[in-house]
Amino acid sequence: MSTSSAELETGAADEAHERLLTGWGRTAPSRAEVVEPRTADDVAEALAGAGPRGALARGLGRSYGDAAQNAGGRVLAMSLLAAVREIDEEAGEATVDAGVSIEQLVQLLVPMGFFVPVTPGTWHVTVGGAIAADVHGKNHHRDGSFCDHVVWFELLTPAGERVRLARGDELFDATAGGMGLTGIVLSARLRLLRVESAYMTVDRERAGDLDDAMARMSARDDEYRYSVAWIDCLARGRSLGRSVLIRGDHAGADLAPAGRGNGALAVPGGTKLAAPPWTPPGLLRRSTVRIFNEAYYRSAPVSEIGRIEHMRPFFWPLDSVRNWNRIYGPSGFLQYQLVVPFGREDALRESLER
Ligand SMILES: Cc1cc2nc3c(=O)[nH]c(=O)nc-3n(C[C@H](O)[C@H](O)[C@H](O)COP(=O)(O)OP(=O)(O)OC[C@H]3O[C@@H](n4cnc5c(N)ncnc54)[C@H](O)[C@@H]3O)c2cc1C
Repeated sequence: MSTSSAELETGAADEAHERLLTGWGRTAPSRAEVVEPRTADDVAEALAGAGPRGALARGLGRSYGDAAQNAGGRVLAMSLLAAVREIDEEAGEATVDAGVSIEQLVQLLVPMGFFVPVTPGTWHVTVGGAIAADVHGKNHHRDGSFCDHVVWFELLTPAGERVRLARGDELFDATAGGMGLTGIVLSARLRLLRVESAYMTVDRERAGDLDDAMARMSARDDEYRYSVAWIDCLARGRSLGRSVLIRGDHAGADLAPAGRGNGALAVPGGTKLAAPPWTPPGLLRRSTVRIFNEAYYRSAPVSEIGRIEHMRPFFWPLDSVRNWNRIYGPSGFLQYQLVVPFGREDALRESLER
């Protein structure tokens, strides 16, 4: 069966207007002419009309740095190009516009028994942004990254050509993780994951230091689809790298508290809490974060098996506070992420010691 849901299209396209843009870290603001296309033809027109600084796509601006700003040039804000074109329940695949968000997809798909194959730690991310950054989720060790589940996407090249690309095409591989520099992704066909409920079975355990955390993850990560460690980056000495390991899987319908039926598959939207519009600089300092970390570590269970939790706090805990990035104050914040190969775990220790 196929379902199309044009009702998911939102809003109207604005005229081009100049705006001050930042990434989610709110550092390095810069001005750009922002256009909000609503159709693929609008995108082509906006791209063709860009000046010498060219045009760059922007999703929901959840990149921490300046990846979606294009100072002095044109930015195509893609979130109005947001129709779900087709859901093929038999094949377990969906065709969506690039501006569709993970939030939109999850709320539509989970009640139908499907989930996105990979999600980052916020659901306020567009499919175009997920392809451009080839985002990873807590299931990276098992399922790879977002583009491993993209059957094809349609790209508008800088020359104005619309091409459909699949894995193996050179331009597909350059666009997956290409940060918007190969053109504008217009739409994509995604392979979905079948789920029986909107709930997770979650195991939590504390690890006393970095070696302990690494040993526990190496020993048992393969048993879980999802695995993540919260690390206390301020702990020192014998507690350096102390962590809370959080690992889980989708719960079967029989385990979901709402039982069989639609309750078990419901994903409520909305956010009750919001950060205040302005916070004083320095609210988050080492001493306050140390207190938070201590409390978080101590309140985590030493070991807890099979807790049933809704998927929202499991996958997207930070989304429970709207605009949480403001609490870092007006000058914003930087986030460091690193990937190290097996055998170079010492690099993690070194980075925690800094
Ligand atoms: C709380 C939080 C948690 C996060 N957790 C994770 C995580 O677990 N794993 C992970 O991998 N990332 C994570 N991220 C980062 C986020 O997933 C990526 O930065 C993602 O690219 C943001 O998508 P966006 O739609 O907001 O795109 P933007 O931030 O607006 O843009 C990101 C890049 O994508 C390009 N782009 C956007 N749309 C298109 C398009 N249609 N065509 C071509 N290029 C396009 C832009 O030019 C830019 O280079 C997290 C971010 C936050 C704020």
